[in-house]
Amino acid sequence: MIRKKVLVTGGAGFVGSHLCQRLLNDGHEVVCLDNYFTGQKANVVHLLNNPYFELIRHDVTMPFFIEVDEIYNLACPASPVHYQYNAIKTMKTSVMGAINMLGLAKRIRAKILQASTSEVYGDPQMHPQIETYWGHVNPIGERSCYDEGKRAAETLFVNYHKQNNVKIKIIRIFNTYGPRMHPNDGRVVSNFIVQALKNQDITVYGEGSQTRSFQYVDDLVEGMVRMMASREDFTGPVNIGNPNEFTILELAEKIIHLTGSKSKIIKLSLPPDDPMQRQPDISLAKNELDWSPKIQLEEGLAKTIEFFRGII
Ligand code: NAD
Ligand code: UDP
Repeated sequence: MIRKKVLVTGGAGFVGSHLCQRLLNDGHEVVCLDNYFTGQKANVVHLLNNPYFELIRHDVTMPFFIEVDEIYNLACPASPVHYQYNAIKTMKTSVMGAINMLGLAKRIRAKILQASTSEVYGDPQMHPQIETYWGHVNPIGERSCYDEGKRAAETLFVNYHKQNNVKIKIIRIFNTYGPRMHPNDGRVVSNFIVQALKNQDITVYGEGSQTRSFQYVDDLVEGMVRMMASREDFTGPVNIGNPNEFTILELAEKIIHLTGSKSKIIKLSLPPDDPMQRQPDISLAKNELDWSPKIQLEEGLAKTIEFFRGII
């Protein structure tokens, strides 16, 4: 095994902290870069004693120089509440962050992976979503700072590859959950679990008939590592998600059942442009990466509930 030096931007966030841990376990040296907007030192504090781990406070909208072999670009708030808090900053993070990290990758000849999102499909008119689908995104809506930022980042990635031969990898991540999600980040799995554990009302937006397909974080990290190691001419984009689809109401009922909560479900208004359905077609990931998710919803929720019980 060759020890690589790997940069993870957004490494102190939910997904990033699991990725840093995995890369260290695989014997690599990890530099974790974060501005702590939605991430926190607490997510990686258990790694700080590892001599192969380094933590740097930095904002990806500013240039950054380092010598590494690989870059995972995750820096960007991911929850609607957080990415809408400062929409301009979200767009800058996606676009200027991509430019800075691609410029770095070009200069030091590093391989770079972009954490893109199923949101590039918007409120999809094709179901399930396959990588060749161009999407249905409102460019001036509430979600556009995130969706269009991530779409522009994909454009930058493919063009740095075409024009400058930068070795790129793009994954489109579908809804992911697990331990170390921020309890206040407003995403549905964390909201429902926290509400259920506190016996508070479970806040379903709209009728709860909208669907999502939930992936456990360990499956995502496996997909990321496999994509980074895939053959050089496979750049993606490739969907990484769990195709098992649930309505939001079903999710609420499952969480009430698994926590043994006394919570009641209440219905609140549906936020604008909330996608009605989302399910990945993962044929490409299966064929190219020999990857498919291993952890199904009940098992993953049980682990996540255990985490939240520990912090509430
Ligand atoms: P998260 O908010 O927990 O992590 C994002 C991290 O990026 C945080 O640590 C935050 O502090 C950091 N960050 C934000 N802006 C930054 C900046 N300007 N400079 C440096 N660091 C910055 O979210 P997450 O769920 O861990 O998501 C990680 C990545 O995966 C994001 O790029 C997100 O768009 C993508 N993604 C996640 C999901 C999901 O369901 N979790 C789905 C699709 C895509
Ligand atoms: N949602 C909900 N109640 C909540 C939080 C979210 O019903 O307390 C819904 C939300 O409207 C959306 C789905 O759950 O339809 C997933 O929301 P999340 O913010 O987790 O992710 P995204 O919409 O980006 O997929």
